[in-house]
Amino acid sequence: MLTINSGTLLSKITAMKALNNNLKAIVCQKCPVCHKGDVFVPTKKLFQMPVMHENCPNCRYHYDREPGYFLGAMYVSYGLGVFEGILMFLTIYFLLPSLSTIYYALAVVAAIIGFSLWNYRMSRVVWMYLFPN
Ligand SMILES: [Zn+2]
Repeated sequence: MLTINSGTLLSKITAMKALNNNLKAIVCQKCPVCHKGDVFVPTKKLFQMPVMHENCPNCRYHYDREPGYFLGAMYVSYGLGVFEGILMFLTIYFLLPSLSTIYYALAVVAAIIGFSLWNYRMSRVVWMYLFPN
């Protein structure tokens, strides 16, 4: 017989909502504390190196917790780059199976370079959400 504990179900729903809010804030590159302030200075230039705010414009949370804090974001960036490379490889493999191997390599490199600025931003935001203190 199946019994549903309403307290457990309610706590699972609350945890799912918190996860959903965090994912939405990560994708929108918002502050890990208040989820309202932008982490990066908005720019209209496509290939400009992203510039971070020192503190959250909304709650004044200091983003750079300590010297070298964002070194760990390199691991996240590496993971994103590998994921994008694999995704590009699989896309070409299934859409254009007769293509020469050199074009596979060029497309993977182009995808990694093309997403590098986005990876830079996302890796720092993800790192702040993983290790906020
Ligand atoms: Zn904030």
